[in-house]
Amino acid sequence: MAKDGLFLHLQRLSTEDGPGIRTTVFLKGCFLNCAWCHNPESISNKVQVQHIETTCIHCGTCLSACPQGCLLADENGTIQINRTECDGCGQCVEACPTGAMELLGQSISVSALTDILLKDRSYYETSGGGVTFSGGEPALQADFCATVMSNLMEAGIHTALDTCGLASGQQLLSLLSFTRLVLFDLKLMDPQLHQRYTGVSNTAILNNLLLVRDTITRQPNTRLWIRTPLIPQATDSRKNLISIGDFLAKNLPGIIDRWELCAFNNLCRDKYRRLDLDWNYADTPLFTQTELDQRLAWAMESSFPSEKIILSGASRVNNVIGGE
Ligand code: SF4
Ligand code: SF4
Repeated sequence: MAKDGLFLHLQRLSTEDGPGIRTTVFLKGCFLNCAWCHNPESISNKVQVQHIETTCIHCGTCLSACPQGCLLADENGTIQINRTECDGCGQCVEACPTGAMELLGQSISVSALTDILLKDRSYYETSGGGVTFSGGEPALQADFCATVMSNLMEAGIHTALDTCGLASGQQLLSLLSFTRLVLFDLKLMDPQLHQRYTGVSNTAILNNLLLVRDTITRQPNTRLWIRTPLIPQATDSRKNLISIGDFLAKNLPGIIDRWELCAFNNLCRDKYRRLDLDWNYADTPLFTQTELDQRLAWAMESSFPSEKIILSGASRVNNVIGGE
């Protein structure tokens, strides 16, 4: 029996992670450390605690509730967390009267998660949707995810795997048998730039993409979408977009249904704040539509079929912030 998974949260009624209306399951743990990560709470494979200043009434209850003594109030009364000592026991969360302490991550069994996901079956069935496993990197909890996905497939529910591509080949393969759509992130083709912006080279990721290609070639019911986050001055260069498109056209011809360029957004600013992390993109504005159209045009200069390239995400109105 698969051991319990470390689960972050569910996003119901999602329309961005595959076809139809979906429930996206966010899991904890990822080997990448992307400078722009929109889910920083999903990187660690441990339960974490966060403090929400806007709902804190500075009563101090949490300070005495912590058995590790890792909470203190600074001179302004703001709660500070010693994250090295915190073991995620959750006692401060239970003690806080206003919900200003929150746990990020909980252990969940295969059967408990399956039961929750099956409750939204009518949405999936009427919309052509299903369940997407995301993170973090779901393949790092391969046994757990494969068992839940297998249960869903048995129930006739469409399953998707949203992967950053960095896990062992064996972990990825164990999920592919239970996956009907792979959403594979391809961020940067230059290995040095990949190392600089994500903390690791892209060699294993590219090898895993070829492994996915070989597997789904024998498994035609499983489809493949590639997703590239458009990050200002990191992934959005003409050179990078053409390199990705050329790589896909050369190595995965006829296999990819869609190459999606996902526009940068800064909605995750508060997540970094609550985890006491600095984020270099906190003040970076959204692209304008003109800038996004330019990136799309660059991608279309590559040898990848233009009709399969799409842009997603919001843009800012021209001239509102700096810019044009
Ligand atoms: S989760 Fe436990 S160890 Fe961490 S701050 Fe709260 S009470 Fe202390
Ligand atoms: S118990 Fe909650 S409301 Fe009180 S100081 Fe701690 S975080 Fe703030």
